[in-house]
Amino acid sequence: MRKWVFAFILVILLSYGISQLNVKSAGEDKVDIENGSLPQQDSQMITVSKEQMYKGDLLLVNNDYALHPEGIRSDIVSLSDRQDLVQGYGLLDPSIQLSESVAKDFGEMVEGAKKDGVEHFLISSGYRDADKQDQLYRDMGHDYALPAYHSEHNLGLSLDIGSTTAKMDEAEEGKWLKKHAWEYGFILRYPKGKEDITGIQYEPWHFRYVGKAHSAIMYKQDLTLEQYLDKLKQTKAMSITAGGQKYTVAYYPMVGNGATIQVQQGKPYEVSGNNYDGVIVTTYA
Ligand SMILES: [Zn+2]
Repeated sequence: MRKWVFAFILVILLSYGISQLNVKSAGEDKVDIENGSLPQQDSQMITVSKEQMYKGDLLLVNNDYALHPEGIRSDIVSLSDRQDLVQGYGLLDPSIQLSESVAKDFGEMVEGAKKDGVEHFLISSGYRDADKQDQLYRDMGHDYALPAYHSEHNLGLSLDIGSTTAKMDEAEEGKWLKKHAWEYGFILRYPKGKEDITGIQYEPWHFRYVGKAHSAIMYKQDLTLEQYLDKLKQTKAMSITAGGQKYTVAYYPMVGNGATIQVQQGKPYEVSGNNYDGVIVTTYA
């Protein structure tokens, strides 16, 4: 009898432990999005220069908005020279380049997919300089390529991802990315049904790095980058909890040669321009 009671208690304890584990991971997956700005206390206003509007992870680069040279990532690397970065996936050709930090986040994403048994990834295109983009535009034409300085590939923040097993639309790699890329700071940039907004046909292979706070909001609220930047401008500020981290995201207009932004003492923050009329400040709360 005593043995039976002991076994019973053990089972209860074990299942309690397992349920606690589940609660923890469910909590970390939870995303909360609200309107709301930084508190006034311990805050100060600082001014950032106009140049800041043309730099950062949230730049809108499309047919209407060309990138400015300062928007090109300064950490572009040749991936074939960096086998330490290229782990668990292939390169379509050895000349592929990308922002080093974006490549690191991509590597983490590939690792995450592997845990779900999805592991046949390939990068087919990364950073393209203006000459390469110009050549592509001449070869492919207006319907299939963007002119130089108008493609996100010219920033170093975008990449085309393939699968070695099937077309991305049908491949497990494509399906997994559609569902999970936001957890690593990436968005499917040209989704199906949003062609009127992006001006680009559905591209199941083209992913863009924007940062985790932003990719979470865009994914959960089904917004393209165009729509998200527009929404931020309307709502001014949002707070979000994703991946166990809390962020405040706020938009400030560029007035003349500067934008006055609110920052909070002791809280790290990042500033990115939208490439047309203001900056977005992401504060880690
Ligand atoms: Zn692309």
